[in-house]
Amino acid sequence: MEPVLVAANWKMYKTTAEARAFFSAWGEVAVPPGREAAFFPPFPLLSLVKELLPAGQTLGAQNAHEALEGAFTGEVSCPLLKDAGCSYVLLGHSERRHVFGEDDRRIGAKFQTAMKSGLRPILCVGELLDEREAGRTLPVVLGQLEAGLGPEPPDGGFDIAYEPVWAIGTGKVARPVDAGEVHAAIIGHLRGLGAGRDARVLYGGSVKPDNASALLATPGVHGLLVGGASLDPASFAAITRAGS
Ligand code: PEP
Repeated sequence: MEPVLVAANWKMYKTTAEARAFFSAWGEVAVPPGREAAFFPPFPLLSLVKELLPAGQTLGAQNAHEALEGAFTGEVSCPLLKDAGCSYVLLGHSERRHVFGEDDRRIGAKFQTAMKSGLRPILCVGELLDEREAGRTLPVVLGQLEAGLGPEPPDGGFDIAYEPVWAIGTGKVARPVDAGEVHAAIIGHLRGLGAGRDARVLYGGSVKPDNASALLATPGVHGLLVGGASLDPASFAAITRAGS
């Protein structure tokens, strides 16, 4: 059984000095047995965070290009991320989809490249508010899932993050019962495809210390992807330990 993954997505926040300050406060935070804390800093901080990470805690990137190398100014490749010490890469985060216009085809290509490069992709899926209100949550989420995994979904080596777009950075969190329903559908779909035997399904969207326990106690929730509340060591520590 893979550990419960609690992932800190720092987005485009923190300087070198701020990352150092985070880890000096984070210190030797005891991550409970059966849990894993992973950090996803901006690219220029990857090497520093790798150095500062306590043993057993892991590193990931927030995005990658789908080509292994090439003339793609401003982009970063999966092999380079692997070389920098990353274990994970987030793909298809809602900010990549909806701010930078990445579509399912592109995210699927990135997923293939990440797998080939020995990274463990965390494929992010989630519906917009109007899609939820139109009762289209499951078709949207499962469609993103299928497109991301591609025509030959791997039988392991990746994770999924369910992040309802209306809950990201808004303070609106999905009710555990609603998250649980989508997680169950994702898990059932993976089973149907014969894919992702070891896949964890993380929940993300306004996770805070006061809602983390209920979310982690929800069947089918195998971890959390945390944005804003991961920037502060005390609040991320509380989320990492929630309910343990
Ligand atoms: C995220 O960045 O993936 C996220 C869920 O952000 P927040 O926790 O701030 O909603």
